[in-house]
Amino acid sequence: MNDTQQQYDVLVIGGGPAGLSAALVLGRSRRSVLVVDAGEPRNAPAAHMQAFLSRDGAPPSDLLAAGRAEVAAYGVDIVGDSIAEIDRTATGFTATTTSGATYDAGRVVLATGLRDVLPDVPGIRERWGRDVIHCPYCHGWEVRDQRIAVLATGPMSAHQAQLFRQLSDRVTFLAGDTDPDAETRTALEARGIEIVTGPVAELVVEDDRLTGVRTGSGAVLPLDVLVVGTRMEAPRDLPDRLGLEMTELPGMGRQVTVDDMGATTVPGVWAAGNAADVRMQVINAAAAGNLAGAAVNMDMVQEEVRLAVQQQASRTTA
Ligand SMILES: Cc1cc2nc3c(=O)[nH]c(=O)nc-3n(C[C@H](O)[C@H](O)[C@H](O)COP(=O)(O)OP(=O)(O)OC[C@H]3O[C@@H](n4cnc5c(N)ncnc54)[C@H](O)[C@@H]3O)c2cc1C
Repeated sequence: MNDTQQQYDVLVIGGGPAGLSAALVLGRSRRSVLVVDAGEPRNAPAAHMQAFLSRDGAPPSDLLAAGRAEVAAYGVDIVGDSIAEIDRTATGFTATTTSGATYDAGRVVLATGLRDVLPDVPGIRERWGRDVIHCPYCHGWEVRDQRIAVLATGPMSAHQAQLFRQLSDRVTFLAGDTDPDAETRTALEARGIEIVTGPVAELVVEDDRLTGVRTGSGAVLPLDVLVVGTRMEAPRDLPDRLGLEMTELPGMGRQVTVDDMGATTVPGVWAAGNAADVRMQVINAAAAGNLAGAAVNMDMVQEEVRLAVQQQASRTTA
């Protein structure tokens, strides 16, 4: 360790709901904790965070600001930076940020979220989180009764269309290049979901509002909302460096493999939130961080007990 390196009990990588919850539990357990956060939470494009009991509809940044203040009150350090490299040492881990700072820690919580890989249709990226959405539980109520189209991107898309049909009776299924089987077609049609075949060329936007999609033939289907499936990919640079096992979810994404307390396949490393479960919403991510924080503290206590017993035994025999 050089002069500028700092040593912590726990390094939390990512300061979203999962990372901050882990840090809160650990700070309250009197552990020295550093949170390094690149400051790009997954839901940043959305103006509101829905379905978090007691915070329904709050701006996502409000939850994080409150969380940062809470953990700071327990002495947790928070640094705005990105961990670029991490390696195992004799006593734990050493991590270097993109700005060149280096930190040592005995244990690591990986709470780096995931990356949504969007369908490659012109206009989708610009409208993402506004009138291009993915999740009925995050945005569904807000778009109820509107003209909604679901763009088929994989096997879950027809299911997505059925979920949005719960919220509006004006749902269209844009089959794109997919060819729904007879059972899927029957189920969509039975619920009044129109199926439009053929490619989608681009989104049509007027006055900063989605008004439709242009199909391959040049025709415009008028719309208020486009629903897309994303491939949800937990970043794999740090997991690969640490030798963590990852789970591929066919047609869905990729996540770090963990047990029910967030322990990864590598001792000393836990993962929480979307990094370890792509399905998690904010409230679940926060809960997973809370569990991982408790598991890390328990692991440290067990080590401290072991050492204390050894020391007592050597005193007795001396
Ligand atoms: C458009 C959209 C809208 C959504 N709306 C809702 C909603 O209304 N309600 C709801 O419950 N859920 C919603 N979600 C889901 C929600 O975003 C996630 O459940 C939640 O963000 C997961 O929390 P997390 O802590 O796991 O990850 P994140 O919140 O993504 O936080 C991860 C943090 O880690 C940082 N990070 C990544 N890599 C590094 C690194 N190498 N070094 C340092 N820091 C790093 C990131 O910059 C980020 O700040 C929405 C998602 C999207 C895409």
